[in-house]
Amino acid sequence: MRGVGDARMPAARERYEVALHCDHCRRSTVHLVTPGEGGVSRVTCIVCGRVQAVNTLGFMEQYTENVVRRLLAKPFDIRTEFSRSPREFIASLPGRVLTKPFRVAAELRATMDIIRPRRRSARPPAAIAPPPIGVLAPLDRRCRILLSAPLLWAHTSTEIIDTAHELGYDGVELWAYQLLREGTDAGALAARARRLDLTVAVHALSWDLNPTSHVDSIKAASLGALHRSVELAGALEARLVVMHPGHTTVPHDDAETYWPVLIDTVQEIADHAARLGIMVGVEHMEARQTEFVITPDHANRLVDEVNRPNVGTVLDIAHIPWGQDEVMFITQLNRVVHVHLSDADESRLHLPLAQGERNLVRVLAALHDFQDAIALEGFSISSGVELARWNKAQFEELWRASVESVATT
Ligand SMILES: [Zn+2]
Ligand SMILES: [Zn+2]
Repeated sequence: MRGVGDARMPAARERYEVALHCDHCRRSTVHLVTPGEGGVSRVTCIVCGRVQAVNTLGFMEQYTENVVRRLLAKPFDIRTEFSRSPREFIASLPGRVLTKPFRVAAELRATMDIIRPRRRSARPPAAIAPPPIGVLAPLDRRCRILLSAPLLWAHTSTEIIDTAHELGYDGVELWAYQLLREGTDAGALAARARRLDLTVAVHALSWDLNPTSHVDSIKAASLGALHRSVELAGALEARLVVMHPGHTTVPHDDAETYWPVLIDTVQEIADHAARLGIMVGVEHMEARQTEFVITPDHANRLVDEVNRPNVGTVLDIAHIPWGQDEVMFITQLNRVVHVHLSDADESRLHLPLAQGERNLVRVLAALHDFQDAIALEGFSISSGVELARWNKAQFEELWRASVESVATT
């Protein structure tokens, strides 16, 4: 991941996030509600991806049910919180009394928008009948969806793992840089992820590094940092470690002279990882000066020449040169072992999903049979889980659209 996208949320375009009880998750989870024709709303659980088409009455039933459930749960909350720390509980009461009504009011406003009869008399009645009421068929998906740590950059690795579980991700891609800085016990993190049944991948140290540098001390330090990342991945019981290839030291150098060092480096890292039972994914980088692993040909050449069973390519959708056909790029890669997914437009990379101009439905259709992990990438420096939640919700919708598009072609 390189460029930093603008992570602001867009104005809600007639789509609402409402807490509802999900029969599949068996708890109150955030749902995305899209009002449609004929008073029928599409209700998506962003945690498990379950989609329902409900009419206004059905929606109100679910909404009320969840409110009642929350009210019923209240006395228990109060009792446990009070017995835990009476002083803290009482001190926090005025704040709760002040903020709660606002939250409830915002949610109620959304609810009123959803159930309000759509007054669009200028428009002719829809030719297509509204979708039948009920739960849409669940989709099969063989890939696992990971929460990439920079989506929650202001949070600790422990919080990232907990949020991933909370939002229905299948795993996390933790960043070695963050882990080493916070100094969290890797064994404890591994145990936590294992308990929550989350897949772990590690993004190796990459900023400041250049393992193919013509400056010997930089090359040696970079190699050392990569080995440290592999060790960390081992302690975290990670399945895969993501690394960046090196780049040229002199902007106009002939990249050919760097290839032998790159191959040696990746082989050395791969052999270390193999002893720990870890896969190595080498990312293809964005097209710019000094980078020399950019095209599918470069990525395939690297995998071929390294020639190790535990090495493959990390497909980064953001790094596909703008204007190139994404599906063509994807199908030209011989051995994709991991994917980084984010949106982009002509000038910005790593945007939140559905906020750029990539045709992600087409991209996901091309990854329909992919069996490894897809990490949702982006960058949020402010605390809060909004971006991680947004990306998960968008992914569920995009995946459904992609499966439908595969079915109709
Ligand atoms: Zn990266
Ligand atoms: Zn659910």
